[in-house]
Amino acid sequence: MNMEKKVYDFLIIGYGPAGISAALYALRSGRSVQIVGYDGGALAKAHLIENYYGLATPISGKELLEIGKSQARQLGAEISEDEIADLFFDGSLFIASSKENQYSGRVCVLATGAARKKQPFAGLSKLEGHGVSYCAVCDAFFYRGKNVAVLGSGEYALHEASELKQVAASVTILTNNQELSFENTQNFLIEKKKIESIIGVEKFEGIRFADKTESQFDGLFVALGNASATDLARKAGAAFEQGKLVLDSSYQTSVPGLYAAGDCTGGTLQIAVAVAEGAEAALAANQFLRENSK
Ligand SMILES: Cc1cc2nc3c(=O)[nH]c(=O)nc-3n(C[C@H](O)[C@H](O)[C@H](O)COP(=O)(O)OP(=O)(O)OC[C@H]3O[C@@H](n4cnc5c(N)ncnc54)[C@H](O)[C@@H]3O)c2cc1C
Repeated sequence: MNMEKKVYDFLIIGYGPAGISAALYALRSGRSVQIVGYDGGALAKAHLIENYYGLATPISGKELLEIGKSQARQLGAEISEDEIADLFFDGSLFIASSKENQYSGRVCVLATGAARKKQPFAGLSKLEGHGVSYCAVCDAFFYRGKNVAVLGSGEYALHEASELKQVAASVTILTNNQELSFENTQNFLIEKKKIESIIGVEKFEGIRFADKTESQFDGLFVALGNASATDLARKAGAAFEQGKLVLDSSYQTSVPGLYAAGDCTGGTLQIAVAVAEGAEAALAANQFLRENSK
């Protein structure tokens, strides 16, 4: 794994409107900024944007995305194309890891957009904390010597499986009819069958597949799609209330220096709102850095 040598003032995850807006405010405050993102998010899916300030002629989301990235670059941001799977707070620095790299910042803004994961079958959220987990680094300890499954098929699932492998007796990746999008060099057990439901009422007990076969597991770790803001905040130790990330009025989580902005905060899913939240979070984070003279 390559450790990026430089410690940035701001580490921003996501280069959609929220992440880029946060970057612009941070840069204009004289801060160094590392942005990490890996695809166009919701913005790239917008065909034509007509309701955002200043666009006399509508432009596509993809064009706006590229304008935003080049604007941030021109002001001095470092932009890396990478998918973050983990976020760790060591008491003074936020360290985000992808498959091959690490990035660090004194403050961190999560701007990963709305979670793109659809729950593939019922009952998962009901058993959260009772055998179903969304964070390997948080909960792996409880599954020492046990047989666990990871639900997912991408880099994020691989990351969670690798965490669990260090303590669990066995780790099976359940792709639920999806193809793996990573190379299985660690030889994880892979089960590609379509899942019908989970087994267990009070506690997770296993998986029932669409072909009516069943497999018993002690725990299920959900790692669908990419790591969302919620996943990353949980790994960094942020508080949740009724499953929702706790944010104060300046978009700071319960971890000092960790902010969230844009679609990932669960508000109105619009560019103008994402840009505003990114600005608010960056201004507050800049103030935080000043007060903590980092
Ligand atoms: C089809 C469609 C049409 C729309 N039309 C309009 C419109 O006309 N007007 C309007 O105002 N809004 C529109 N929206 C909504 C608008 O696109 C969003 O509100 C806005 O893009 C949110 O910005 P964001 O920065 O919060 O998230 P996003 O734009 O979703 O950006 C998220 C970023 O996070 C990155 N990311 C996510 N996870 C990770 C990870 N694990 N590691 C690294 N990077 C990660 C992604 O690569 C991406 O760069 C539309 C949305 C869609 C889907």
